[in-house]
Amino acid sequence: MKSRFSAYAYGHYQYIIDTYAHEKKSTILVEDIEHSSEGCHWIALVIHHSKKILTTTAVNHNYFVEFSAFYIINNTLCEMREKSSFVLEQGQWRYLDGIIIKHDELSKLSRNQICPCNHYPTAWTLSKSPTKAKKYKHCCGK
Ligand SMILES: [Zn+2]
Repeated sequence: MKSRFSAYAYGHYQYIIDTYAHEKKSTILVEDIEHSSEGCHWIALVIHHSKKILTTTAVNHNYFVEFSAFYIINNTLCEMREKSSFVLEQGQWRYLDGIIIKHDELSKLSRNQICPCNHYPTAWTLSKSPTKAKKYKHCCGK
């Protein structure tokens, strides 16, 4: 889950494809993912809850994750909240599908405000010291 999010953030779209469940893989194109992610600056992933359902027949192992992905597009902070399901294939959890349960614009960003990535403990652009919190224009808005 986290590695897939990092792959979105860094534009490693082939990895996104590689971690799709077998039955979905053939229907997804790198270009589609690239297109859906165009102009997005992904800043943080927040996992709300997750639940593993292991069955005696390895075929039906399922992993459900509800998460929010925060990103900036056109100087607007957005949240996409999704419930995803993963299946276990060859010892790896692969993405099967997801339902988007919320997709909102949270706020317009001004260049001189503290960068919103500072509000998310999981953001990897986060300054090490809170007193050094960068302004948006010097951080994700660059
Ligand atoms: Zn930032």
